[in-house]
Amino acid sequence: MKLLAISPHLDDAAFSAGGLLASRVDQGWDVTVATCFTGNVAQPTGFALACQLDKGLGAEIDYMALRRDEDLVACQALGTRAIHLPFLEAPHRGYTSAKMLFAERLPDDRIVDKVSMALGEVLAAERPNLVLGPLCLGNHVDHHVVLDAIRRSCADHAVLLWEDWPYADRENRVAAMPAVIEHLTPETRVRRIAACAAYGSQLGFQFGGFKAMADRTEQIAEERFYEMSKD
Ligand SMILES: [Zn+2]
Repeated sequence: MKLLAISPHLDDAAFSAGGLLASRVDQGWDVTVATCFTGNVAQPTGFALACQLDKGLGAEIDYMALRRDEDLVACQALGTRAIHLPFLEAPHRGYTSAKMLFAERLPDDRIVDKVSMALGEVLAAERPNLVLGPLCLGNHVDHHVVLDAIRRSCADHAVLLWEDWPYADRENRVAAMPAVIEHLTPETRVRRIAACAAYGSQLGFQFGGFKAMADRTEQIAEERFYEMSKD
């Protein structure tokens, strides 16, 4: 059996579904994490550069190369393969403030067309039995782009959506019943923590550091997944 997790950013799949990914690997599934927004910009400026500097990474560092390397370590911890699609994150597409990342999509932002086409090619090559993607808790514009692209490209596939973490901690308003509940075992929880820990550049910003992430993960009993609505 093959599972394809479609992650907006380099961290979302492991953060949100690391336990399920690890347990499917243990059950013998072939699991791949395809991350959509992993493209480089040679010399970022403005808000895009600020997103790097505020994580303690100087302008001379190739931020996305660092994050792709983190993702490979995370995928190794989970036992999954990694695919990196070359699309640019929202700060490189005209979203010039933190507030804009969680607001309406810009009218001239047509990246969803390109992401849909690329996902179509990945699906044709991978032929997964199950696709995972983001439910879009937190309303990050890049997560919505990926969900729209999944709706367009995965109509013929079984799709389940994860509760985007850590947004799910702050915003618990999923009305639907979960289609799948993955109970975390001590083993899968350890793997989820190891995978999340690999994204060292993001831990301070997202959680307040490794310990806070690990402590919080220790308290998470289950991961919940939902059917994708057709609208
Ligand atoms: Zn994300």
